[in-house]
Amino acid sequence: MSVEAECIFCKIVEGVVPADIVFDGGDTLFFKDIHPKAPVHIIGIPKKHLTSLDAMIGDDHLTIGKLMHDATHVARDAGIFEAGYRVVTNIGAHAGQEVSHLHFHIVGGEPLGPIC
Ligand code: AMP
Ligand code: ZN
Repeated sequence: MSVEAECIFCKIVEGVVPADIVFDGGDTLFFKDIHPKAPVHIIGIPKKHLTSLDAMIGDDHLTIGKLMHDATHVARDAGIFEAGYRVVTNIGAHAGQEVSHLHFHIVGGEPLGPIC
């Protein structure tokens, strides 16, 4: 079976696995994290399967740039823009990446503390 067929986020894109979708940007998709670490915790992905940010090739950077752009709109719609929020992606084991489909966490709704 292909990597994409086994990928939980690809299954969300396909509609096979349900998700609480907050925005569909055409080539991007945003849905609520199933185990939120903050009052607002949204996952933003490219619909194309990329293992992580490190796997971008060709024109992928255009999609990821749009993903960042869409993320700011999603954050505004979620009401966390004024107080501030964080957008972060994990790459690989030391970062604790659990799902091997490139995704950004959009978190906010409370003080988040320092990360770096
Ligand atoms: P990471 O550690 O960066 O790979 O984060 C993966 C994130 O995906 C975690 O915060 C999970 O709670 C979240 N997650 C995993 N499965 C689902 C799902 N089916 N729907 C929504 N979020 C999910
Ligand atoms: Zn995938």
